Amino acid sequence: MVPAPDVEERKAYDEALMEGRLLVRHCNACDAHHHYPRSYCPFCGSGDTDWTVAAGTGHVYTLTRWRQRDKVVVAAYVTLPEGPSVLSLIVGDDAQGLTIGDEVRLAATQGSGSMPSFACTNGEQDRLS
Ligand SMILES: [Zn+2]
Repeated sequence: MVPAPDVEERKAYDEALMEGRLLVRHCNACDAHHHYPRSYCPFCGSGDTDWTVAAGTGHVYTLTRWRQRDKVVVAAYVTLPEGPSVLSLIVGDDAQGLTIGDEVRLAATQGSGSMPSFACTNGEQDRLS
């Protein structure tokens, strides 16, 4: 039987996201990260898990676009360097040009609820290095 969602854990995740930090769970038993937030590990079943602040970067695994009134909304699964792929909104003027494999970084959530928002980096990592 799957345990009921832990409301307090979800609250910590949501509050961190509104502060611009993305939390993922880390399993101390098998050393894997998982997302969505839950206290038991989906890989080994252990309850020995804790929060990790994600780096806030990632790559687009897959994406979709749709028109909502007069604007185009872009949603993507973003694969984090920690391992999990997270359903996210893509924000910013250049979101429509996004393709699979592009680098993105965590952006302000702008009232998107529990779904993180990412923005295109446009190779800013390359320019900084
Ligand atoms: Zn585990």
